Amino acid sequence: MLQIPLYPLRFEPIFQYRLWGGRRFSNLLSEPLPSDGPIGEAWVLSDRDDHQSRVANGRLKGKTIGELMVQAHEQLMGKLASRFRRFPLLLKFLDAREMLSVQVHPGDSHPNLLPAGETGKTEAWVVIEAGKESRIYAGLKPGTTAGDLHESLTNGTIADRLVTLVPRPGDGVFIPAGTVHTLGGDVVVFEVQQNSDVTFRLFDWNHIDAKTGQPRPLQIDQAFACIDFAGRSGGLVAPEVETAGPVEREKLFDCAPFRLWRLHGKAPFPVGAENEPRVLVCIDGSGNIEYDDISYAVGKGDVWLLPAAAGACTFRPGETVGLLEIAIPG
Ligand SMILES: [Zn+2]
Repeated sequence: MLQIPLYPLRFEPIFQYRLWGGRRFSNLLSEPLPSDGPIGEAWVLSDRDDHQSRVANGRLKGKTIGELMVQAHEQLMGKLASRFRRFPLLLKFLDAREMLSVQVHPGDSHPNLLPAGETGKTEAWVVIEAGKESRIYAGLKPGTTAGDLHESLTNGTIADRLVTLVPRPGDGVFIPAGTVHTLGGDVVVFEVQQNSDVTFRLFDWNHIDAKTGQPRPLQIDQAFACIDFAGRSGGLVAPEVETAGPVEREKLFDCAPFRLWRLHGKAPFPVGAENEPRVLVCIDGSGNIEYDDISYAVGKGDVWLLPAAAGACTFRPGETVGLLEIAIPG
């Protein structure tokens, strides 16, 4: 067991090459980007065997989230400790200069499509930056059948079959498992998802991967097997205002794997919760987390894990601040 008490933890981002990515993280994140090539994803909290987030601050610097999940399990997870062996959420920023593939993720109700040890994947996006050309596609237009979708793949018109959104900063978009989705055209989003890496590609816009000189493989049969053709629950969400002061607190997502609020304020306000972990993401401005007489500086693009043992903390904005707070429903 770890003798060091846990404290608010920041992790080093793990940058991922993607052919559809860009270079916008150089403005959003404080850590330097790999020197060249398109970077599509920054994994900011990942407890996956192949990509382990490492603590970037304090006495535990260099420890992985997986090590903490073993050595300080109760301190980290509190009342959720018995339910999760690994951290159940995977958190990323996406920088989609080009369109991602049109894709779908299986749900927990499709165990035959999940490799051993994987869960289904429900995910959600909060738009950070968007331009005139940015688009989000979230779900099939009502009435679209499997036959319609097959035909659209053959003649390259799949975009016409999808619900299209023109994203604006602050928008929340919910993508339950089984929802056909993609995004791109110079858009940066924060992504919260179940800790899963199972994606089935339907269409890849005839992209050629510069690294391989080849198109990327598609998984059309598996995709069709998990598409929810009657699904109506995904897409742009209407925020639900919970409090107006001292911080404006709006709930954007509330599903079994995660709950996410958007906070906006300039007077000090509480963050975190007793006996459960919370994650804070700074999307605008800056400030400090105050815990145990220590102040932790938070800047735009920072992601902080408040361990269950830290309980409720105070956030003191340095200027007006925009935060996301994420909980794992108990
Ligand atoms: Zn996805």
